[in-house]
Amino acid sequence: MSIRINLDKCVGCLRCIEVCPGSLIKEKDTKAFMKYPKDCWGCVSCVKECKAGAIEFYLGADIGGNGGKMNVSYEGDIIHWNITKSDGTVKVIDVNSKDSNKY
Ligand code: SF4
Ligand code: SF4
Repeated sequence: MSIRINLDKCVGCLRCIEVCPGSLIKEKDTKAFMKYPKDCWGCVSCVKECKAGAIEFYLGADIGGNGGKMNVSYEGDIIHWNITKSDGTVKVIDVNSKDSNKY
């Protein structure tokens, strides 16, 4: 499993580098660069932290996916988890970031 960083969307905030527990993402030419894709264990911390929506998580067969992709977009306190399936259909799961810290 791994992520893909869209350099056209990356704004160079480097939050993904700070949150990756394995230090797998590095900086290159003021943008984020996934240096060790094989070592990614799919915690999706970087996906969640990327306010620019530049990081996509690949939903491969190893985690029950079928080649889809997932990224996030933000709207106030709401985090939209956008899942694009391999057939092009999109499913969005909304999580209120304030509620998610209640438990
Ligand atoms: S969090 Fe997103 S915008 Fe910020 S450096 Fe990483 S990929 Fe780029
Ligand atoms: S999904 Fe987790 S382990 Fe993989 S690059 Fe992102 S923060 Fe690092």
